[in-house]
Amino acid sequence: MDHFHYRNRELYCEEARVADIAERFGTPVFVYSKNTIVRNLKTLNEAFAPLDPLVCYSVKANSNLGILKLVAELGDGFDVVSGGELARVLRSGGVAEKTVFAGVGKTDSEIASALQAGVLMFNVESEEELAAIDRVATTLGMVAPVALRVNPDVDPKTHRYISTGKKESKFGMDIDRSLRLAEQATGMAGISMIGMHMHIRSQITTVEPYAHAADKGVEIIGKLRAMGHPIRWYNMGGGFGIAYRGGESKSIEAFAEEIVPRLKPLGCRMAMEPGRVVVGNAGILVSRVIYKKKSGDKRFLIQDAAMNDLIRPSLYEAFHKIWPVRMEEGGPDLPENFESEIPGTETWDVVGPVCESGDFLAKDRHLPEVHNQDLLATFSAGAYGMVMASNYNTRPRAAEVLVDGSEVQLVRRRETFEDLIGPELVALES
Ligand SMILES: *Cc1c(COP(=O)(O)O)cnc(C)c1O
Repeated sequence: MDHFHYRNRELYCEEARVADIAERFGTPVFVYSKNTIVRNLKTLNEAFAPLDPLVCYSVKANSNLGILKLVAELGDGFDVVSGGELARVLRSGGVAEKTVFAGVGKTDSEIASALQAGVLMFNVESEEELAAIDRVATTLGMVAPVALRVNPDVDPKTHRYISTGKKESKFGMDIDRSLRLAEQATGMAGISMIGMHMHIRSQITTVEPYAHAADKGVEIIGKLRAMGHPIRWYNMGGGFGIAYRGGESKSIEAFAEEIVPRLKPLGCRMAMEPGRVVVGNAGILVSRVIYKKKSGDKRFLIQDAAMNDLIRPSLYEAFHKIWPVRMEEGGPDLPENFESEIPGTETWDVVGPVCESGDFLAKDRHLPEVHNQDLLATFSAGAYGMVMASNYNTRPRAAEVLVDGSEVQLVRRRETFEDLIGPELVALES
């Protein structure tokens, strides 16, 4: 499984023993594999090479500065959705000229600082936003490069919270509205429309939605050019799915095979905004079992990672593989799939210490015999894990380490109680 593998029944990240990392930095801890990220970015660049791609890593998937620095060093770009994310990119050595700025609620001050930093383009999500960008740019005596975010109205067949490409979405505009707005934009002095953007949804596992979107995109770009807009970029957004269970998503190459020939005749450069596919399977969350508890027919495995560390199961009913970091002699191996009965396992709800019945990492999950203090690995936790972590229940957020071969670098220390109360301004007798 990427650069996470068992050797002598012990889990390793690249050449580093995960148990040693947990011992050294405590639990819960996110462990990232540098070489998995490097490989994923290389695969994307190579698969889409005929379209001269600019890979704009979607910062919201995992914004640790160590990861952003790595992406910047590899020469790839960024997709940001706030002034804060842009600041992270610039701080970690990323360049604005390779950064696209998306998001439905850009404020005037965010627009102004992105313009002054020199971002590649703004992905525009509404009429009012385009007017605001025009106004801010004109005031600054600048011209803002933009791409309209168009909803091709393809049904994504993904979880309703991560679907964005249908007509009735907060994001983007339907095709007719986009074309009307593009018509108006021809008269805006502060706007140069150089691209078209489509992000249909997240965790897409089949090629059809992209093929369908690309066909519509080609048509739309033809119309935009006919209005006089110098469209040079086709931004296909992000959304490539990953295997949370095993084998359920098409490969990057298979996506490219459908998309590249459709777009090649446009003569546009391709921008893409992959997040999950870059970092998702490059990270695990390591936790330690605290207690086991039986209530009625249910068995609960209480461990020290909770919904505040990884909210995807609670929020999206997402599936993450979970397996012991050390597999016992004679016990079952990490299964290829969790659908069928697994000999030698019992069924557990894997839960955390947070006071919510929605606090779980897995329900009715097959696991081999585990003991208190054993370590568990929750796989595919590199994307939308730490970035969505909170301090609910006054739980300090986890540590994060980046592994390169046998080298282990702490890229975010575990928070302390003092970190948590630092911003609170109450005079206390201490
Ligand atoms: C979230 C998001 C992405 C990244 O999505 P992934 O599914 O992680 O690839 C890219 N572009 C936009 C506009 C997004 O909102």
